[in-house]
Amino acid sequence: MNRFWSNTIRNISPYIPGEQPRDKKYIKLNTNENPYPPSQRVLDAIRLEVTGDVRLYPDPEAVGLKTALAGFYGLRAEEVFVGNGSDEVLAFCFPAFFNPGDTISFPEITYSFFPVYAELFGVKCKTAPLNDDFSVSAENFPPDAGIILANPNAPTGMAIGLDQVEILLNRFSQSLVIVDEAYIDFGAQSAVPLINKYENLLVVQTFSKSRCMAGLRVGYAMGNPGLVEGLERVKNSFNSYTLDRIAQKAAAAAVEDREYFTETCQRIINTRENTAVGLMELGFKVLPSKSNFLFAAHEKIPGEALLFKLREAGILVRHFKKPEIENWLRISIGTEEEMEIFIEKLKDIMI
Ligand code: PMP
Repeated sequence: MNRFWSNTIRNISPYIPGEQPRDKKYIKLNTNENPYPPSQRVLDAIRLEVTGDVRLYPDPEAVGLKTALAGFYGLRAEEVFVGNGSDEVLAFCFPAFFNPGDTISFPEITYSFFPVYAELFGVKCKTAPLNDDFSVSAENFPPDAGIILANPNAPTGMAIGLDQVEILLNRFSQSLVIVDEAYIDFGAQSAVPLINKYENLLVVQTFSKSRCMAGLRVGYAMGNPGLVEGLERVKNSFNSYTLDRIAQKAAAAAVEDREYFTETCQRIINTRENTAVGLMELGFKVLPSKSNFLFAAHEKIPGEALLFKLREAGILVRHFKKPEIENWLRISIGTEEEMEIFIEKLKDIMI
């Protein structure tokens, strides 16, 4: 506490990111990073960009990157916004599309940054209950509120189909529906093809997961040009240069290497399915995941106790101190080899 803090900052509970350990080397399954390096083309693009030109500001419009993304998704460049990680893009949505005192709704269990942004920007929250199996239903959202929805949801990993997204868009046609697709490339259906049909849809994605670039901080939003312009207005009232020169070039190179992207995602999907089988064989309940992580619980050992035992065994996973999910652990998918070690260590712990 400091006497100069604003009331907002006094009262807020900031988001706590997963640990980036400094003490020793762990098998790191706690922050949903990609276990593989980015494409060689990304590394080459980074090297090429490391010149004396870093004295110059980057392109404030990030035209090269927006054009690459537009080409990949079959959109126009003015339908794409880019920012410093999707966290920044999601944060910008609040002042761009909500007035202080407006209400935004999101599932009861979801990405815990959403209520923090709402608090920061004075937006009220209403949660939508989940079904007993942790699934999200369009009917559970309250009327007269904007919607922000992670699909696949976090930390459950469960996805809804495009039919459900369309039900939401139609039912709440007067509200903005923001779909956070951070994990969409691991097997779920993206809402991007609906952008030209629904002007109340904004899709947010990231380079941190499926494109192996969490360390470079690149995220983006796709929607009609009016929504994108709203985000640009926030950005240009905050920081003209949210994306540095290296990140812009690296991200464009990642988009261009479709083959590596597809291959890496498929590898992670395969490992996820093998890991889910391994966990179920050990008696874990495992939710059906379409993301690069699994959400699992065992009736014989509380989530937090298992978290500590795994840590002692050199493996980091994530636990959330929320009563409804206290017994669950979120396990990011590592390499096939890392996940085999994970299952072996679990076997030792469980006997
Ligand atoms: N959305 C969800 C659901 C996430 O889990 C994350 C990662 N913590 C993000 C967005 C943000 O990712 P980034 O800022 O790295 O793009």
